[in-house]
Amino acid sequence: GLAGRVALVTGSTSGIGLSIARRLARGGCRIVLHGFGETAQIADLEQELMHSGAPNAQHVMADLVQPAEIERMMTKVIELHGRLDILVNNAGIQHVAPLEAFPVERWDAILAVNLSAAFHTTRLALPLMRQHHWGRIVNIASVSGLVAAPMKSAYAAAKHGLLGLTKVTALETATSAITCNAVCPGWVLTPLVERQLQARMAADGVDREEATRRLLVKQPSKAFVTLEQVAALVAYFVSDEAAQTRGAAWNVDGAYTAA
Ligand code: NAD
Repeated sequence: GLAGRVALVTGSTSGIGLSIARRLARGGCRIVLHGFGETAQIADLEQELMHSGAPNAQHVMADLVQPAEIERMMTKVIELHGRLDILVNNAGIQHVAPLEAFPVERWDAILAVNLSAAFHTTRLALPLMRQHHWGRIVNIASVSGLVAAPMKSAYAAAKHGLLGLTKVTALETATSAITCNAVCPGWVLTPLVERQLQARMAADGVDREEATRRLLVKQPSKAFVTLEQVAALVAYFVSDEAAQTRGAAWNVDGAYTAA
């Protein structure tokens, strides 16, 4: 079971990461919260997670663009708990622009946060997991890891790369009780997508309903995937029943990638 497991969820101060932290807390995991946020809001989240079942919930910070900060974060996790059982690489950022006009600095940041950070957390977590003969690594990719869309060169490159990293991690751990899998969500209404919705309303001069319709044009369900639906898939991947689910990239996407 999950009770007492130590789970680090990157980018868990918001959106999908927070819903995953909430789900793992209800299962009795000790939660390491991570991500940007106001001190008071983070303190509230720690309290909330402990009330809902986490024996411990503590925030650690690292700017994922900086490998040295990731190393310090992992050291902090060991200081706090002496182990790490579950690693969810969830933090991610987006920027949309045509290739010729794509800001080089945004490309570097997206590759760093959405891909390289997962390499760093994984390489630092694996020795801890091997030491305790159990581990679960879940990478939050995207439908953009499986198919592409214009204007998303950095995001699609990073998410395709993250699926490659997922497969290699699964292979290098294949004979152990450590697994690595990826989740590929379609459109989920989080602050990240809210910003894209607002941008579309402004750019197209349309209201929220019409902007939503345009955003979901490639999602055949015409409905957002919910935060809880993504967290439920993560809960399966970290379960004992998923012991032989390895190197998978499973979509929860309203049939986005079926089309
Ligand atoms: P969000 O913007 O709500 O949350 C992102 C989290 O990452 C926040 O906690 C933020 O503080 C953290 N973060 C961002 N940059 C960071 C940095 N440099 N250092 C440390 N922390 C950083 O986003 P979300 O929509 O919940 O997205 C979470 C993940 O799900 C991302 O990897 C995203 O690509 C993926 N995803 C989202 C959708 C969607 O529709 N929302 C769809 C598919 C995949």
